[in-house]
This record gives sequence, C-alpha cells and structure tokens, in this order.
Amino acid sequence: MQAIRQLYKIGYGPSSSHTIAPYRIAGYYRNAYPECTSYEVVLGGSLALTAKGHGTIEILKKALETENIDIRYDFDCKDNVMNILGRDENHEYPLWHGLSLGGGAVSIKEYDCGDQREVYPENCFEEIKKTLRDKNTALIEYIYSHETDLKDHLKECLKVMYETVNNGLNRDGLLNQELNYYRIAGKLYQKAKTDQDYLTAYSYAACEENAAGGLMCTAPTLGACGILTSLMYFLHFNKNVDDDMLCDMLAIAGIFGNCIKTNASIAGSTGGCQAEIGAACSMAAAAISYYNHEKLKTIEYAAEMGIEHFLGLTCDPVLGYVIIPCIERNAISVLKAFDCAYLAKQLYQVKENLISFDTVVQTMNYTGKKLAIELRETSLGGLSLEYKNEKS
Ligand code: SF4
Repeated sequence: MQAIRQLYKIGYGPSSSHTIAPYRIAGYYRNAYPECTSYEVVLGGSLALTAKGHGTIEILKKALETENIDIRYDFDCKDNVMNILGRDENHEYPLWHGLSLGGGAVSIKEYDCGDQREVYPENCFEEIKKTLRDKNTALIEYIYSHETDLKDHLKECLKVMYETVNNGLNRDGLLNQELNYYRIAGKLYQKAKTDQDYLTAYSYAACEENAAGGLMCTAPTLGACGILTSLMYFLHFNKNVDDDMLCDMLAIAGIFGNCIKTNASIAGSTGGCQAEIGAACSMAAAAISYYNHEKLKTIEYAAEMGIEHFLGLTCDPVLGYVIIPCIERNAISVLKAFDCAYLAKQLYQVKENLISFDTVVQTMNYTGKKLAIELRETSLGGLSLEYKNEKS
C-alpha cells in the first residue's frame, strides 16, 4: 500500500479530483517548462463533465498563472484524463498525459511525482493484522515505523483543518448564486451554544469553505472533508484533546482509508459517494473507537460499519457543485461515525462481527463498478437530473 500521508493532502477546494489533482499536474508541468506562455489542456471523463461546478478551469488559471489556456473537453473518455501541452513564441513543449486518480492523487506518464510509491508491504487489513500478531506490535507503532515523518505532516494538516473551520464559522453570505445557497455555519455555531451540536456547525464550516475554493485538507477527499476536519476541531477545541492524540487518530483513520483506496476506491467518479462519504465515515469511526481505547477488533468493527451502511450511495452533485447533497451528507456522516463507534462497542459485548472490514471493502468495490456512470460524479443522473427537470 502507498503512504497514509497521500490521503491527507493540502490544497484548494472544492474537489480533490477536480481541483487539487489538476492544480498539481499543471504545477509539475509549469516547473518542468517555465518558459511556456500558453497552454492547451484536454479534460476527459468526470473532469470534463463537472469542470465548471468543480472549479477546474479557475484552478488551472491559478496554477498556470495565465488566462491563456485553450481548454478542450473529451466527454466520451471514461477516465479522468488531463493532458497538457505548453507553448512559447518559438516552441511547442512536450505533451503530458495526466490522470486524476481520486483524493488529489495523480499519475503522469512522462513524470514521476511519487504518488504511486509503495510504502507498506501489506495490502489489506487481514494482512496487517497478521503482521501485528507476528511482530507483537500495536497498529499505531506499525504505522509510524513505516512512515517516520507522518506525524509532522499530520500536524500541518491539523493546522489547515483548524484554520478552515475558523474561516467557515466567520464567513456568511451567498455561497452559490445558481443554487441560491447561503452559508449557514455561523448560524449553526450560534445555535450550538445552546443545543451543543457543535459537530454539525464545524462540518458545515469546513464544507462551505471547501465549496468556496478555500485551502483545505483532503480526508480522504475534499467532497468528504467535513467529517474528519470537524471531528478534529471538535475534539481539540471542545474537548481539549492535544495534537499528538489527534495525529494518532488521523494515522489510525488513514490505515483504514488506505485499505479502501487500495482495494476499492476513494473517488466519487469511480465508486460513487460511498467511496468518499462512506470511506470518511469509516475512517472517522475507527478514529473515535481508537480514541475510546477500544480493542483492535472493535476498531475494525466500527470501521466496517462506517462503510456497510453507506454501500450503494451515489454521487450526483446538483449542477456539478460540491454543495448539494455533499455538505449535508458530511454532517450526517460525522454524527454517524459516533454511532458506529458506539454500536461496535455495544455489539461486540454480545456477538462477533460476521462481516470483516476487507469483505465490506470488496463489496464497496463491486457495488461501485455496478453503479451507472450517471451516478458517478457526472451530474447526469440522480438528484442532479431531477433538480434540472424540476427547474426547467
Ligand atoms: S455527492 Fe459525495 S462523492 Fe459526489 S461530489 Fe458530493 S461528496 Fe463527493
């Protein structure tokens, strides 16, 4: 498996696949060929279909620091392709073939950016458990032994998460004109002072910042960024949990996210929303269970439950914006992560879990492949289609 730090990337919203990944591909190209003054970019698959709502064009202008970009769309392409070619007055520079892989990860045929490097010899949770047994070591030690610099990286991620929520709580007004969507995180925060529902306020704050193109941390994607971000903020500012423990929680969450990424997907365009919101809920449930000092099998149960009850969840963002159903769905999911951790603890006192984490991940993979293309981040079906029909 690849490094956990790959799951926690810092970059601009609103979509890890559609803004962070294109930003990175464009950035690598610009560094390689700084003489370019104009560019030709081809976007394929979901990148083409939801480029406008997902802010891809704006992020390309930001990364390349020019408006001089000829963007073409390949709507028939099945993969999330981003090809780029640059020119100056006298030269045409090499064509690069890029792919957005989900969660901001990229592959570029002509350039090794390191996203694909394998760090863990194990590839699923059963293999990890066997290693832990054989070496008589704890899961957290196993993680840090493979990624010695992970904690420093996670501390940077926490800073971004805190800043994101602070910004989201302190901004109001119109977020999206076409949807007539106004920010409400600040109002939810004021309400939380009496009803104590801070998690919902923090989740909205993170997601509204994301939708506005703010600086974010993927966890494991930006569409699902509100879940772990709000959890970290809540535990730090409402429960005085220190950054060391929060980093450990992100690391534990990350190993489950990594198994999902390796054996299924964390991209809505590949596996539907179960792959984003389901994955983040699973990771958060594992983190909460770890924080509660549960045994490994209870942590696994919580993580398994986090996916199981999101299986089949479709990705159909209205008008292509990461707003409806995404923002509300994040708030539901962070609350559900607490339910999963609680229920796993309760159930394990009377029964074994009959579905392993690896089994539910395989099921997610199977289910994602069965989802129609209209329901995988193309905005061609589901809520997006019904919304358009109602408005027309
Ligand atoms: S519906 Fe889910 S997977 Fe799709 S963009 Fe929204 S959060 Fe991401």
